[in-house]
Amino acid sequence: MALRMNTPQSLPRVLADPLSYRPGPHPARQEPHKLARRLRRQVGQAIADYAMIEEGDKVMVCLSGGKDSYTLLDLLMQLQKKAPVRFELVAVNLDQKQPGFPAHVLPDYLRAIGVPYQILEQDTYSVVTRVVPEGKTMCSLCSRLRRGALYAHAQEAGFTKIALGHHRDDLVNTFFLNLFHHAKIAGMPPKLLSDDGRHVVIRPLAYVRESDIQAYAQARNFPIIPCDLCGSQENLQRRQVQKMLDAWERESPGRVETIARALSDVRPEKLGDARLFDFLSLGARQDATRIDAGAWQSGDLPDDHDSV
Ligand code: SF4
Repeated sequence: MALRMNTPQSLPRVLADPLSYRPGPHPARQEPHKLARRLRRQVGQAIADYAMIEEGDKVMVCLSGGKDSYTLLDLLMQLQKKAPVRFELVAVNLDQKQPGFPAHVLPDYLRAIGVPYQILEQDTYSVVTRVVPEGKTMCSLCSRLRRGALYAHAQEAGFTKIALGHHRDDLVNTFFLNLFHHAKIAGMPPKLLSDDGRHVVIRPLAYVRESDIQAYAQARNFPIIPCDLCGSQENLQRRQVQKMLDAWERESPGRVETIARALSDVRPEKLGDARLFDFLSLGARQDATRIDAGAWQSGDLPDDHDSV
């Protein structure tokens, strides 16, 4: 995997390329200042609620070129200036070699805002197009390969946290995907230990609405790189869930927010998972014999069981 890196010290602040980043008016100085303030408050709240960032952390901010990751980086940089702890931020982008990917856009932008950054290069596009049959969505494998490359880099470079740009609507969408298609109550947590136990992944935008990110990205004039250069369609199931959520929100404004709040107010004793709540001991008499399911199903009850 190739790696290009930079630090802000010696970098030009003005870009010659007319396609390059032109910062929009800062939201704090114009009409959307309330939006900027709300987003900073929500991100700060999420960071505090889940202890996402601690003193001395080296945070890798994964930057794809989409509105979510630009917003994440922008807000973290603002919070960093007044944060109660000192931490490092490094923006990291994986150039996956999709045809037409404008490789100069992110480096130009990152130089302009003066943040340390690293650009990794790995041709996952060729792998995905070779492996996935034509007409099938490539996003799932593409994301898995991207995650693998970024996590491996985080390990090598000594990052203590990996920050991703998933927002409140992603969290709710994933919850319903798992519910409808995998028969489980599970979502996308604001903070997560990777399966191999090596990485702490944080999602500081967990409380932020996608529509607010959209408005913020427009106000800040981020140089968005679309994630459809490869021609792949987003996962159909995810799109269907999103359509359902959009329809609910139109009919009952605020419903998605209510669902999002419910994700952090879980009552295991009001569900049915005996691994999370000890239903077996609930009200059990000390003198009673516990009878297993086989006996209940066959009617073959133990000898000492009183028949009715
Ligand atoms: S749209 Fe293309 S680049 Fe984006 S996640 Fe899907 S396969 Fe990957």
